[in-house]
Amino acid sequence: MEETDEQTEVQDPRLRRRLVLIPCPLQGHMTPMLQLATLLYSKGFSITIAHTHIIFPNQSNYPHFSFQSIISGGKPPSDVKTFIFYINNNCADPLKECLLSLLSKSDKQDYEPVVCIISDAMMYFAKDVADSLKLPRMVLRTSSAISYDAFTYVLQLNQQGCFPIQESRLEERFPDIPPLKFKDLPTMKTSDGSSLYEFLLKMLLTTKASSGLIWNTFQDLEKLALTSITNDVHIPLFAIGPLHKTVTTISSTTSLLPQDSTCISWLDKQSPNSVIYVSYGSIVGMDQTEFVEIAWGLANCGHPFLWVIRPNSVANCSQWEKLLPDGFHEIVRGKCCIVQWAPQQDVLAHHAVGGFWTHSGWNSTLESICEGVPMLCRPCFGDQAVNARFVSEEWRVGLNLENGLEREEIVRFIRKLMEGKEREEMMVRVKDLKEKAKNCINQGGSSLESLQSLINYILSFNK
Ligand code: UDP
Repeated sequence: MEETDEQTEVQDPRLRRRLVLIPCPLQGHMTPMLQLATLLYSKGFSITIAHTHIIFPNQSNYPHFSFQSIISGGKPPSDVKTFIFYINNNCADPLKECLLSLLSKSDKQDYEPVVCIISDAMMYFAKDVADSLKLPRMVLRTSSAISYDAFTYVLQLNQQGCFPIQESRLEERFPDIPPLKFKDLPTMKTSDGSSLYEFLLKMLLTTKASSGLIWNTFQDLEKLALTSITNDVHIPLFAIGPLHKTVTTISSTTSLLPQDSTCISWLDKQSPNSVIYVSYGSIVGMDQTEFVEIAWGLANCGHPFLWVIRPNSVANCSQWEKLLPDGFHEIVRGKCCIVQWAPQQDVLAHHAVGGFWTHSGWNSTLESICEGVPMLCRPCFGDQAVNARFVSEEWRVGLNLENGLEREEIVRFIRKLMEGKEREEMMVRVKDLKEKAKNCINQGGSSLESLQSLINYILSFNK
């Protein structure tokens, strides 16, 4: 896909349209929304980002966008699930005010008309606001298409009185979506699953009631799931991913934390394909026992490792160094690099990186596939177990560390990922997917064609 910061289409300001984009204030959601915004801007649309005060991008990285705050004041809950409810309960009125103000400006000739809003699927409060103003609303899904199918299944099971799943059925495969197992369904650890149910129901109903769905995925990866969703929702679907490969924005502009690039100079000194990169994304943490087992597993695996340890990501411990015995640091000296936050896309693209131990967030999964790096999956919550199951058993470009997290088991899995025949086979498959990801955004590729359809669709809104 043409890489440019300049607007390439719809140059005449009288023909320009404004889009209001509403990201969810979490890293893994904000990044694809900003990438989509950049892409649509390059195609001639004017962009307003309606954001919360809680987590928001550095506006100086996006001088061509306008930014509107849709919530201020108040300390948000720190637990991510309660946080999402808090956002949805508090943002509707401010969003309506913001849109009313933009719409009244549009009446003047010099301001582009707002033709559509695009909200993250988790920002379901946007539906009622858009409906009340008679504005078309599209939804960006920042996760895999297969996880949408799995979430829909939760609702069906709940209606049949079968959710949460009985302990004895957790290892069973889904009849309709092999290779998924029941244990891969998301849980929110409430005793009756009610808050999860309420959340999924709202998200899926408002998604289905939108004017169209935009996906950060591509046909060659998720064709079956995309087809099954098309049959279910009866609204247009636009699979235009992988978004991070379609825009020139460097990853540091979408990153909400400062990236420590010293790890790149460390990688420069390592042999090709020798390093295992370990990161659990922006939310997942670990308890102290897990942390110590991971540390020893990495120290004993025989491969150099680059480990992202976010501040406060080890439960009840502000200084993780103190959890490791003195001898540990001697053992790993020269063989490891630890940072608080890495430039992940550059890390994965580095020739020294041979494997990625990931929590299986969707962005991380796509980024790994696009660089041809096989994965060791250790999913934690939400869509991650679904992604991990597909990585390990459908696309077969990784391993699923789904049972114990003891140091010996970790060593065994890392060696399997980094050495031997199974690795070679995974490499062949992941390189094939990498190639497909590259082709789909080039001339004649499915994502590029979907993008053009999306642009035409949006342009049809204000006829
Ligand atoms: N990321 C990063 N540096 C890190 C770890 C993660 O830039 O040290 C980025 C990563 O490239 C990805 C995002 O953070 O784009 C994480 O998104 P994902 O969907 O994988 O997981 P989440 O954080 O939503 O759980």
